[in-house]
Amino acid sequence: MPTPVCVYLGDDLARYGFGEGHPFGPDRLGAFWHQAQTSGLDARVIQCAPVSVGRAILERFHTQDYVTRVIEQSASGEGYLDCGDTPAFPGIYEAACFVVGSVLDAVERILNAECRHAFVPIAGLHHARRDSAAGFCVFNDCGVAIETLRLQYGLRRIAYVDIDAHHGDGVFYSFEDDMELIFADLHEDGRFLYPGTGREEETGAGEARGTKLNIPLPPGAGDAQFYLAWERVETFVEQYRPEFILFQCGADSIAGDPITHLRYTPAAHRHAAQRLKQLAEKHCQGRLLAMGGGGYNRGNLALAWTAVVDALLADWPVPV
Ligand SMILES: [Zn+2]
Repeated sequence: MPTPVCVYLGDDLARYGFGEGHPFGPDRLGAFWHQAQTSGLDARVIQCAPVSVGRAILERFHTQDYVTRVIEQSASGEGYLDCGDTPAFPGIYEAACFVVGSVLDAVERILNAECRHAFVPIAGLHHARRDSAAGFCVFNDCGVAIETLRLQYGLRRIAYVDIDAHHGDGVFYSFEDDMELIFADLHEDGRFLYPGTGREEETGAGEARGTKLNIPLPPGAGDAQFYLAWERVETFVEQYRPEFILFQCGADSIAGDPITHLRYTPAAHRHAAQRLKQLAEKHCQGRLLAMGGGGYNRGNLALAWTAVVDALLADWPVPV
């Protein structure tokens, strides 16, 4: 194996976005990849083409009715897929299928030992619910991945760790009563930022109580607060000895994002990736899949995501 890390790239994946000039525009993948090339990471990873997926796979997580609605609105290109944040555009269904398909392809490669870790930059669409879009997220690739890890691969204890500025409500509420979905989410306090959820007291429901960790941070929180909270995330996740780790590394938690108020530096993203990599090596043969998540300042997402990929590559020789 020349390198242990797969990175997904290509127009089919970049296309998931809401038009030039939109915070979630189609130029985000290019901004990341330009930085990857500048820093020489491009030669150190396995570059993978985006993969699509059929509706039966989407319906492992989403309702049939919702998938049908996305297909119909994608054909017309009209209206919103939620209450007003996530507009339909012609081809949005196909674009969203490439996000989910690429994440599932990464899962498969990791479990087949074709790579050790993977990064899908346009992914981690953590707000989508089983029956609706939300906050720029059409299909919840994280949710489909969790259901697929169970159904297709028979894994049970899956850890989902999220450092995006926004609470991963679409994952949290979809698995709130699932005691084998270990959920840890550091985010800006919901009193100040969309989607308004993720209070510390929200620890899971029913028999799953205690399997979810929400840590809201105040607006303006920087690296010092991140590192302090991160210690709790790590201890929490490790006690469950996960069989697979999903990492939503949204870059909108970095200082200078246009729509949030946290003030981390990309060092926070590097640290989280390094530590999760160590946990994955210790407990689950390195099975760690990172997903880009949010991030609307192009310079920030480029630096944060390349820091994550660089951390995943650590301990592997640089080609000469
Ligand atoms: Zn976000």
